[in-house]
Amino acid sequence: MFIRNSVTYRTAERIKVGVCRNRGGTMAKQIVTILSLSSFLCPSPVETALPFKFRGQSTTTTATDDDDDIDLNPSSVRMVDTEIDGFTGIPTYHIHSSQPGSRRNAVVDSFFAETSPSTATSNSSVTSLQLSNMIKQKANEISDFLVYSRRSLHQHPELMYQEQATSAYVQSVLRELDIPFTTGWGVNTVPHRIDGPGGYGVVADIGTGQQPCVLLRADMDALPIVERTEGVDEFKSRNKGKMHACGHDGHTTMLLGAATLLKSMEDSINGTVRLVFQPAEEGGAGAKRMREEGVLTMEPKPQQAFAQHLWPTIPSGTIASRPGPILAAAERFEILVAGVGGHAAMPHLTVDPIVVASSMVMNLQTLVSRNLSPLESGVCSITKFEAGDAFNVIPHSAVLRGTIRALSMDTLLLLQKRVQHVVETTAAVHGANVTITYSPDFYPPTINDPELFNSFSKDVAGLVADNGQLSDIEPTMGAEDFSFIAESVPSTFFLLGQGSGKAPDTSYGLHHPHFALDESVLPRGVQLHVNVALRALHKLANEST
Ligand SMILES: [Zn+2]
Ligand SMILES: [Zn+2]
Repeated sequence: MFIRNSVTYRTAERIKVGVCRNRGGTMAKQIVTILSLSSFLCPSPVETALPFKFRGQSTTTTATDDDDDIDLNPSSVRMVDTEIDGFTGIPTYHIHSSQPGSRRNAVVDSFFAETSPSTATSNSSVTSLQLSNMIKQKANEISDFLVYSRRSLHQHPELMYQEQATSAYVQSVLRELDIPFTTGWGVNTVPHRIDGPGGYGVVADIGTGQQPCVLLRADMDALPIVERTEGVDEFKSRNKGKMHACGHDGHTTMLLGAATLLKSMEDSINGTVRLVFQPAEEGGAGAKRMREEGVLTMEPKPQQAFAQHLWPTIPSGTIASRPGPILAAAERFEILVAGVGGHAAMPHLTVDPIVVASSMVMNLQTLVSRNLSPLESGVCSITKFEAGDAFNVIPHSAVLRGTIRALSMDTLLLLQKRVQHVVETTAAVHGANVTITYSPDFYPPTINDPELFNSFSKDVAGLVADNGQLSDIEPTMGAEDFSFIAESVPSTFFLLGQGSGKAPDTSYGLHHPHFALDESVLPRGVQLHVNVALRALHKLANEST
């Protein structure tokens, strides 16, 4: 199948979509209806192309020769089961039960009718309090859907720029909710460096289609990690060597939950909420690609942006953030040391790359301790050292990999310059050659706009957190490509506590093979998204009048 993209033309792998009608039992009938987990697999999948829709173009549904009359009307689809490259994809069952024309919400109507911007960020008025309570109730009502969705995604992790089934799942839910969307976002512009075509990003606008406009973002990609969680066997990763160890299955789910709520009240929303399902966060700069492709400049232009990350080191129920830098700028590099190999018994006839590379590792330890001010934050870590095959052979080459991080671009660029200098001079001292390769895109620091944080985000998070306040937190040296969005639009990045202290142990760190998500916080994440979106629109609308 050929997929036409508005920027480039590219070939996508064939996708099989099995369609079963009226199969399976209903677990719950709330805003969405959920199929039982027992009816995952469609016994006789029918092959057709996935209905993809690209920016500025209409949905294209291309059926295969032998089955060109498949009805993908939401009301008739009971389950869609994608099969990609031989593995069974993410089964979907989501039927939007609310009727067209019933998308007004009296509480949201009253909230937007209030003219005081301060009601947007406090529960000082009856209506504002009612809004918080209504959102909380609706988020809790879809908790079965959230758990189902998260577990489905968790079983089918996909690496950056390969999020085909994940994207198909997101699209299927949006379609069921009758939310128009565009896809084709986040094309991989460095396929020679990172595998996968990309283009699996999805963008959906809910509301009037006019300003004010705010953006909510979730990331979708997983990590190349073998999952080692315990006690959750029924929904462990089915893709060997890949794992949602950074909670992006939860992020995608929470934004879909927010879509569900926002759509159910769409006619009462004064403005537009742009939902961004972003590929390739884990090093692929998917947010940068989407920014380049126009997600921040197409009308209505978002005036503010928000995202959240599940965070295991703070308790479930809490929400943390801070003004200014919250996550680091990051660059990664690979160092190839080329020496002269030979017999281990005759080192004088070689240029031993292991000795040279070892010297580099030690010399690089002085960057942070001796080149940065003690008041500056920085990291230089060598995380891979590879050389040699035999006990009696000095190899020809050695490879080092590592990362540098800092809380400002100035410091990151200083570290990068020093890495280059130290590595080159160390190689010269030993008579070796060296090549350094940097990542295609370094990440800038994630900066929370101080004005937005202090006048808005802090208070809204306090309305959602179980302790009634936003918790302060130190910046961390992890990095996030939401930083590319925050560079262009005033933004806030929230950390959603998920260290529950209960089984399964949810306190393992991000990227750990035992990382386990606390599913009980998913409705809280939905509440945060929806409160932030509605209240930001209300504040922006009042400020512009
Ligand atoms: Zn991560
Ligand atoms: Zn992450």
